[in-house]
Order: sequence, then C-alpha cells, then structure tokens
Amino acid sequence: MDEPSLGRSRPLVPPLYQSSVYVLPDLDALDAIMDEGAPGFVYARDAHPNAQLLAERLAQLEGTDWALVGSSGMAAISAALLALVQQGDRIVASNRLYGRTTQLLARELHRFGVETTFVDPCDLNEVRSALQRPAKVLLVETISNPLLRLADVETLARWTKANDTWLCVDNTFATPVLFRPAEWGADLTIESLTKMLAGHSDVTLGAVAGTGDLLGTQRQTMSIWGLSANPFDCWLALRGLETLALRVRTASERALALAHWLTRQPNVVRVIYPGLVDHPDHALASRLLAGAFGNMLCFEVAGGRDGVNRFLRQAVGIPFSPSLGHTTTTCSHPASTSHRYVSQAEKRRQGISDGLIRLSVGVEELADIQREISRGLA
Ligand code: PLP
Repeated sequence: MDEPSLGRSRPLVPPLYQSSVYVLPDLDALDAIMDEGAPGFVYARDAHPNAQLLAERLAQLEGTDWALVGSSGMAAISAALLALVQQGDRIVASNRLYGRTTQLLARELHRFGVETTFVDPCDLNEVRSALQRPAKVLLVETISNPLLRLADVETLARWTKANDTWLCVDNTFATPVLFRPAEWGADLTIESLTKMLAGHSDVTLGAVAGTGDLLGTQRQTMSIWGLSANPFDCWLALRGLETLALRVRTASERALALAHWLTRQPNVVRVIYPGLVDHPDHALASRLLAGAFGNMLCFEVAGGRDGVNRFLRQAVGIPFSPSLGHTTTTCSHPASTSHRYVSQAEKRRQGISDGLIRLSVGVEELADIQREISRGLA
C-alpha cells in the first residue's frame, strides 16, 4: 500500500505510525539500518518513529544525550538495572522507593543473585557507609512517596563518581521541569511517563535517559526483555509533553497555596509539603528544585481510616484513584495502596498513618479544589 503523497506539505502534528514492522526495498537497506545506523526502522520492538520522537524530546527536557522509552515506569527501571548489573553485584537503594521498585530489587533481582542494601537516603552517613563496600548502582528517588523527602543528588553523585558506582535517579515526582538529575551528576534518569509527564492518565510508559556510552546496552536490554513502548502511547505522551511545564508550574502553585490553607482547616492533623518551612527537607528542596516544590502534597485527617473514608465519600470532586499527575486533582491513600504490603511496623517507622491522604494536585482553579476538600473535611 502506497502512502498518500503530501507534496510539499507536512503534518504539523507527527503522525501515528501504528505498524509493528517496516517494509524494506532490499538486503542492503536492511544492513544499512541494522549495521551502519542509517535512518529507518525494521521492527517496532527495536525502534519505531513515535518512540524515537518522544525519546528525542525527553532527552532535550532532561538535558541528556539520549533517552529510551519503555512500556511503563517499571519497564524503564527494570531495563536500567538489568543492563547494569551481573550476578554477584550489589546495589545500594533507598528504603523509601516506590513499592514495586522495592520488590524488583528485593525479590526479582535477588532471584538472579543481585543483592540490595537498603538505606535511608535522608541519612547521608548511612548512605556513605553503605557505599564503602563495592556497589554497582545507587538508586534513589528525587522526591519520595508519600512523605516527599528529597535525596541530595548532588552529594550522592560526588560519592558515586569516586566509588565507580552508577547513580540512577527516579525523577517521577519532580519531573524535569523542577529537577534534571543529569545536571547534578546522575548517570541515569528514570521517569514514569504514566504520571505528570504524559499528564492525562491515558498512557502507561516510562523512560531512561543518560549521557555517554550506556545507550547501546540499555537499548538492547529494552528490546531483548521486551520492555519497549507501543506507538499510540508514545504519540499521546508526546502531545502531553507540550503542556508539561505549564501543568507542573500551575499545579505546583496550587499545591503550595493548598498546603498553607490546609494547615488552617478543621480535622487536619498535619500537612506534608516540601514548600512548607516545617518540612524536614525544605532547605534542600529550595536548593535543588527549580523555584517550585511540585504537585504532590500529603495531609492527615483526624479519625484515621474512618476519617479517610468519610473524606473520600464526601469529596467526590477529588477522585480516589491511586496514581498521580492527572490534569485535575486526585487523591490516594498510601497505607492501603502504594504501601499496602508494607508491614505495620515499617509504616509506623516511616510515619505513614491510616489517616494520611496523598493529593496529586491538578491545574483546576484553586477555589474549586478548596471547595471539594472542605466538603470532605466537614
Ligand atoms: N516510580 C515512581 C516514583 C512511581 O510512583 C511509580 C508508579 O506509581 C513508578 C515508578 C512506576 O511507574 P509505572 O506505573 O508507569 O510503571
């Protein structure tokens, strides 16, 4: 089937190349693509135009030489780690990571003979002493879930460089609008595009970005383990990126205003937001983040689990949907979603109480969000 001729015109919006395979004129054309890096595509699991366009835009945003897109945030984290470690290697990782990432390390990589030492990234002495034994990778999140603690990526990068350890930073909560890990010394930046980057809760995608010669092994790992992304999700994500900066800046403004407002509301026991001066990492967040503190905010309601249920049933305009980064405000309950399988003792240690609600603040008018929250708190 011939493509329609566009003459001297071209579409303003990149087309969707919803094809799993490409047609080649002869073996020489195939060899040129496969062996010499000539432009073109063969098989969509290896590469396709929508993934390539999205990856190029992501690399620009992250300030890296390259980016690779995977079928989810977890695919991106899996590819990043699988490409770096061998049996017998050791990883040092934050003990505040997203639950599935913790399981990837503690269960899956453990099965392949890769051991992980978990440390509190907020305790720099603990991290430093863990890095005194050889470690292939240090994995942290820029802003942790749900308590929004920051990792001092600048200091960690100094140590990992001195130790021959790859520093991998999951930047999902910060987004490249507020923080570019590569500029602070991270070797690999990981994003779940499912969240704020694509921004409309209609794709599941992730990305790994970096500079230097890790690209080849990362690309191979993505393809061999079958972690690649489909064209339509890439097409949607590229569209989402056009408004990323606007959404992040506006939602961060709303979140800061809400955080201050929440501290004065009835039935609110505590408010957790890095933009508040009483947050333990307020100074670090002010130093690392680009002039805003992000769209994620937590608050604890009186009455524990029952108090949360009352809130969810009444604040119907703030959907209870356990993800983040949607255009409008949504909420989640860490104790029964992201940290559902964490022991009670560990939840207590981290301060994840039954009354804790996590808000992913959107870009709607502040007054609309306040009205719904007030209804929930009444
Ligand atoms: N990293 C963080 C910080 C997350 O919160 C999540 C998901 O919630 C992921 C990674 C995984 O992303 P995905 O759901 O796209 O696999």
